[in-house]
Amino acid sequence: MSDTLPSPQPLRSLDDWEDEVVARYPQPGQKAREDYRNYDAPARDNVREFYRLHHQHQTYEFVLAKKREYLTLDHRAMTVLEAMEYLNTLVDDSDPDIDLSQREHLLQTSEAIRADGHEDWFVLTGLIHDLGKILCLFGEPQWAVVGDSYPVGCAFSRRIVYPEYLDANPDRLDPLLNSPLGVYEAGCGLANVHLSWGHDEYLYHVVTQAGCSLPAPALYMIRYHSFYPWHREEEYGQLLDDRDWQMLPWVRKFNPYDLYSKSPVRPNWDELAPYYTALIDKYLPGKLRW
Ligand code: FE
Ligand code: FE
Repeated sequence: MSDTLPSPQPLRSLDDWEDEVVARYPQPGQKAREDYRNYDAPARDNVREFYRLHHQHQTYEFVLAKKREYLTLDHRAMTVLEAMEYLNTLVDDSDPDIDLSQREHLLQTSEAIRADGHEDWFVLTGLIHDLGKILCLFGEPQWAVVGDSYPVGCAFSRRIVYPEYLDANPDRLDPLLNSPLGVYEAGCGLANVHLSWGHDEYLYHVVTQAGCSLPAPALYMIRYHSFYPWHREEEYGQLLDDRDWQMLPWVRKFNPYDLYSKSPVRPNWDELAPYYTALIDKYLPGKLRW
């Protein structure tokens, strides 16, 4: 199934697509589109401090160490529903737009996708896309779990959010890690690039090692939804391969549901549980390794 899915219709423009989603899925209390991801005036004042720590500590060596620590997936065995329950105690410090619990964010995302009539695998992707944030509950600081992601091991783009904080990253002092290609080969593909460590990469490994039947676009949405310097800013073209370019429209298709579905209205889990329980059983049944 994974290789037979066509790319979605080319988007007229990213702005048009975002406006379309916002217009089609209005929410009481929803902000204007341009008021989301406003890092100059974030709704919560810890966002700036969050990125100061994130950019300082996300070095190439740090990312490799976290991969060695977590990608063995031997920390816990949990079903998707158990992971949602577990995650529900967390509020994301990097997010300038939301104060709701993580389960509510997941349901707002998946319900927006469902309301737009997308296929069930896309709805499930919305439901699970942030489950990797359970890393926080394993004792990881938020700067090692959430926030925008970007490649390490090569020069940082100046279009990363709060780029000035990257000046404190020790990798800036290494000539190799500061070159456009760094440790990578041109066109090597994102699968061979290490991004700053966080929930996207972690969940990607949880679901693929579970042998799930989600199609390739779903796996790209999971793995790269925080990689705004790519899917929003179109940076790092020197590292991409054909597959990445093919999948970019899918990652972009996902993004507005993640971003603009955020609203103060709380979804009713009890009403939604039967539908989502069946959906999880179809694609990701039983206990997964975390
Ligand atoms: Fe996320
Ligand atoms: Fe999200």
